[in-house]
Amino acid sequence: MSAPLVAPRDDVGLMDGYHSAQVDVDVRLNTNESPEPPPAAFLDAVAAAVATVDWHRYPDRAATALRTRIGALHGVGPEQVFVANGSNEVLQTLSLAYAGPGRSVAVFEPTYALHAHIARITGSSVAEGERTVDFALDLDEVRRVLTEAEPALTYLCSPNNPTGMVETPETVVEVLGLAPGLLVVDEAYGQFAPWSALELVDEATPLVVTRTFSKTWSMAAARLGYLVGPSWVVAQLEKVVLPYHLDSLKQVAGLAALDHVGAMEERVSRLVEERGRVEAALRDLPCEVWPSAANFILFRPATVAGADVWRQLVERSVLVRDCSSWPRLDGCLRVTIGTRDEDDRFLASLREVLT
Ligand code: PMP
Repeated sequence: MSAPLVAPRDDVGLMDGYHSAQVDVDVRLNTNESPEPPPAAFLDAVAAAVATVDWHRYPDRAATALRTRIGALHGVGPEQVFVANGSNEVLQTLSLAYAGPGRSVAVFEPTYALHAHIARITGSSVAEGERTVDFALDLDEVRRVLTEAEPALTYLCSPNNPTGMVETPETVVEVLGLAPGLLVVDEAYGQFAPWSALELVDEATPLVVTRTFSKTWSMAAARLGYLVGPSWVVAQLEKVVLPYHLDSLKQVAGLAALDHVGAMEERVSRLVEERGRVEAALRDLPCEVWPSAANFILFRPATVAGADVWRQLVERSVLVRDCSSWPRLDGCLRVTIGTRDEDDRFLASLREVLT
């Protein structure tokens, strides 16, 4: 028997951790990464930068050069940009500063599981709203949840993971008007979508937009994400994040990536085109398919149970995300858009399993 203080917090003891199968397969289409590496010139620049890092010194704690360049990309100053180890750490820092014990966080399910998970880890309560049966945001439900729970943080995810659905500007503006606290629009897949809530960010608006280098920038290995928001929010986040949280190597890697915006945009348009091809092919199979504005597609096989399809795809060395046991996503799977070859392999395997 361990002493009471050797035990974890009661709520942590009862929690499930984050699960996403990492299986060794030929075709990995389960975590929405970019199927293409960054350009060779980026790799050369990072390799050269490694030699210039002052390894015996702590990094620039404020990551000023990187924040300035990210800010320039979005037409804001560095004081309106916060950077961290992946957008998940950005979300955690938001929760540490604005939520926590005695405060609540609103999410509209189904959505990215980490929003609620990070809220709970930081001791916040979670106010869960429901989307409609077709996964659209229901503004009456939003009004109900925000009035009842008065959340310190309200999350939207656009395009939404795992549904792929994008919120309209009108919807975001309306939720902004209803949210009593900060509105967080998670745009991890923002570059694939037709518009961005970044255009609504200003000093007078309690809105932050989060983005990541993990998807469009082909840099999932580096763990780099950021938010754009009012400088008074960024100032609070800087108080709670650990000192020197962003290492020098990551800061130079981020700067090197920003020299290749054009190459990133080309990758995005290739993926958007490929998404159309995969979606059309899925519609020819016995599957329910949701239209996506991201680099993945949610679908529900009609003839074989989702979990069985997932297993039979793994047997064919193709890994997709099994959402079939997640609440509200009965029988659903989510496939990341890969290279043309990877997608052909996925589609051929799925055809075999379903027909
Ligand atoms: N937000 C959403 C909606 C995501 O899907 C992901 C990645 N799965 C993240 C945030 C986290 O991305 P990262 O921490 O790699 O920046």
